[in-house]
Amino acid sequence: MPVYEYQCTACNNTFELRQKFSDEPATECPACGGTVRKLISSTAFSLKGGGWYTEGYGSSKSSDAPTCPSGGSCAGCPSAAA
Ligand SMILES: [Zn+2]
Repeated sequence: MPVYEYQCTACNNTFELRQKFSDEPATECPACGGTVRKLISSTAFSLKGGGWYTEGYGSSKSSDAPTCPSGGSCAGCPSAAA
């Protein structure tokens, strides 16, 4: 389920809502009741959305260099095991 991020235009409070695509967007700040606007939250969505994104990303980079911070030489790296 995607996570939407909102920011209050009155108090600048930001909050996240986990909503279905069919749910109505939030319009009120839970802190002050002011008007909120939806933020672009593709980062939150990709990090917390789970499954499909991770699988798609993994398959698309399979032929690229490993992204391990130690250059693929750590024990957990697929390239080190191969
Ligand atoms: Zn507010």
